[in-house]
Amino acid sequence: MTERRIRYSQFAKFKRCRRSWLFEYVQGLELDRPAGVTKGPRDIGTLFHLGVEAYYNAEDPHGALRQKRDELVAADAWSPEWGDHFELVTIMLTGYVQWVSETAADAHEDVLFVEPQLEVPFAEVRGDLVILTGKPDLVVHNQLSDTNIVVDTKTVASIEQVQHHSGQGLTYALLLKEQHGLDIGMFRTNQARKVKRTARANPPFYGHAEMLVTPQHLATHRRHLLGQLDDMVRLVQQWEEEGYSDRLEHDSNFYPNPTPDCKWDCDFLAVCKQMDDGSNFEHTIRSFYRNKPETPALETA
Ligand code: SF4
Repeated sequence: MTERRIRYSQFAKFKRCRRSWLFEYVQGLELDRPAGVTKGPRDIGTLFHLGVEAYYNAEDPHGALRQKRDELVAADAWSPEWGDHFELVTIMLTGYVQWVSETAADAHEDVLFVEPQLEVPFAEVRGDLVILTGKPDLVVHNQLSDTNIVVDTKTVASIEQVQHHSGQGLTYALLLKEQHGLDIGMFRTNQARKVKRTARANPPFYGHAEMLVTPQHLATHRRHLLGQLDDMVRLVQQWEEEGYSDRLEHDSNFYPNPTPDCKWDCDFLAVCKQMDDGSNFEHTIRSFYRNKPETPALETA
């Protein structure tokens, strides 16, 4: 049986844009950036995560950043753009650690896991075995409420006070139950604003938003995932058989979803327009994109 490993980030990308999902997760492509050119806000988030992971592992968060900077310098990839990102993230991390200690934001909580690698055989879909994978930032146990909490850290433009829904939190809760037998009762986002906290910047700069997770939630979410997986596996199987050979069929299945966010959240903006105006987009892919070093998440085995 064909095994397909699907990590949680794919679900969000699939809902955001099927075309981008195809490029990134099925074809496993990434923009071939010159050394020193960053992914902008996405790299700010990655750097902040690096520091927060170190913090919850009882290590020096700034030491993690210094190590990353040294790696970039050694690879001759350091640039003023990276310098700006590191300056901003250093300020954000310093403030985050202060905020956690001053507000006792995670008092009475024991850390159970930091970035656990989760991997669960989830379902047979269209004859293939889907293995769901995910890596939540943090799992803690609150002693006062006797609740296990999945925590995700986000860098944001503004602090959200309320968490209405989170497929991410529910998916991690499902995986933690299946892999570790852990009942999750809450999902929380830890948010940090991407600002330097100058005198002119208005607080709040950090905040929490939480939602309860119930067994009924998880049962419903499992059905949602199965529905989406059915679409995803069908499309992957079709891609494996036909590639771009039937453009009519391709366009009706892998349709784009252009929004203003394309400018910053998609590496495929350049080739996207070409796909629809008759240009030789495959030449552009060969010239400006490369295969991601890691195996595409929809790998088969
Ligand atoms: S540029 Fe926008 S519409 Fe085009 S592939 Fe990317 S996310 Fe989709």
